[in-house]
Amino acid sequence: MQYLPVFLDLRRGVVMLVGEGDLARAKLRLLASAGARVRWYATGGDHDLGGLGEDQVSRIELATGDPLAAELHSVIAVLCAGAGEVGPAMSARAKAIGLPVNVMDDLEHSTFIFPAIVDRGDVVVAVGTGGASPVVARRVRELIETVLPARIGELASFIGRWRKTIHGSIPEFPLRRRFWERVVDGEIGALVLAGRNEEAEAALKDIDDASTFAGGLPSGRAEGHVTLAGAGPGDPDLLTVKALRALQDADVIFYDELVADEILDRARRDAARIPVGRRVGKPGIGQDAINRLLIEAAQAGKRAVRLKGGDPFIFGRGGEEIEALREAGVTYSVIPGITAGLGAAAQFEVPLTFRHEALRITFLTAHKARDAEAVDWSTLTDVKMTIVVYMGMTAAPSVRAGLLAAGRSPQTPVGVFARATRKDAASAIGTLDELPDLVEKIAGGPAILIIGDVVAHAAPARHQQLTQLANYFQDAAE
Ligand code: SAH
Repeated sequence: MQYLPVFLDLRRGVVMLVGEGDLARAKLRLLASAGARVRWYATGGDHDLGGLGEDQVSRIELATGDPLAAELHSVIAVLCAGAGEVGPAMSARAKAIGLPVNVMDDLEHSTFIFPAIVDRGDVVVAVGTGGASPVVARRVRELIETVLPARIGELASFIGRWRKTIHGSIPEFPLRRRFWERVVDGEIGALVLAGRNEEAEAALKDIDDASTFAGGLPSGRAEGHVTLAGAGPGDPDLLTVKALRALQDADVIFYDELVADEILDRARRDAARIPVGRRVGKPGIGQDAINRLLIEAAQAGKRAVRLKGGDPFIFGRGGEEIEALREAGVTYSVIPGITAGLGAAAQFEVPLTFRHEALRITFLTAHKARDAEAVDWSTLTDVKMTIVVYMGMTAAPSVRAGLLAAGRSPQTPVGVFARATRKDAASAIGTLDELPDLVEKIAGGPAILIIGDVVAHAAPARHQQLTQLANYFQDAAE
């Protein structure tokens, strides 16, 4: 992000516009309808206001003289549109005294740029692409237009009118936030969005205890809660809508080392973010300490999200955490996530079950050779079973040895799928016999092993077969 979107308070002064023609008029229209007072220097002296409404014209001051020598005392921003050579010169002047300046279609001379705007009264959405592509910004704006309720601006104004009153009756900020969330997400919000303002007003007036409405405890505090949420295998678009919502509502987020920054970027900006996972080569803070942090956060009235890679209940220690929360009397909920095995299967096109070929699936962990030794491999010899191994990179030789000793064919197709659904995803395909070599080939984890005939259907396997075939024909032709 090179440009930070900020909103300019137009009541603070005058916006200076330099330029002429259609370009200048388009900016005049935008500024005047946003309520700005505009001082317009028409570079060629032609103050043509054609096409502007009376209301807009009343906000425009027609200035004469040289803009490069003009008084800038009450000016809060400078805009050049259709200003030709004067644009860069004006930009230099504005920059010299720290005034924000935009020269249309000229990033080099601009210190701010205009976003594409969705305007719904008090609700304004600004969309930018850092100046790279206004067309993309417009497409994004169209998408937002289609999902925003038409009366969303009215909902904001409605709340704006009641803010002070409620502030008086709920002094505690987290509880006040919850009050407004219940208004927005509940019946009152629905009434405003349906245009039934009077009923909404009446319903809000009817609330006799705002704190109770917000779900506050008798102490006047907000009630804490812990949400265990699956973050999926890496691609932020694989977050569930529910997990996204939990992240947007969170006061504090405790996350694992597997959770990508791109996912944390989607959380509420004000939420505290606390890493609690193991880092490469360094131990984590330990499960007991994590449990304690979760309990303390909830007891302090916070909404905590425990964000885990993949799914919380698949090799994610979610079970232990909710046990501790239950013992401490803390309320919690669990949001599933797409587990790494399913993410890898989808990305690399490994159908985990397949007609008569694969009728069941086993999810297995082989974190250390010790885990691998604890596995009863004789239960995994069914050729119609797909085996998905988590944390199996280091123990790959033991996995191979265990399965071969139990009688599974060394020719069983195997895939190693690393960093699945992330930008740097990679795969290596071969046979069970080659498993340790395949793991070697993959540079770094996290990686999933998938073992079973279905791996022959995987996209990289098909690709490998085609290459082999092509080589064969080439050799034959030579
Ligand atoms: N709860 C997680 C698993 C945590 S155990 C889930 O449901 O996915 C950690 C193991 O998950 C890693 O050792 C690796 O085997 C696997 N893993 C996690 N993310 C992965 C990814 N993006 N690609 C491949 N394997 C991954």
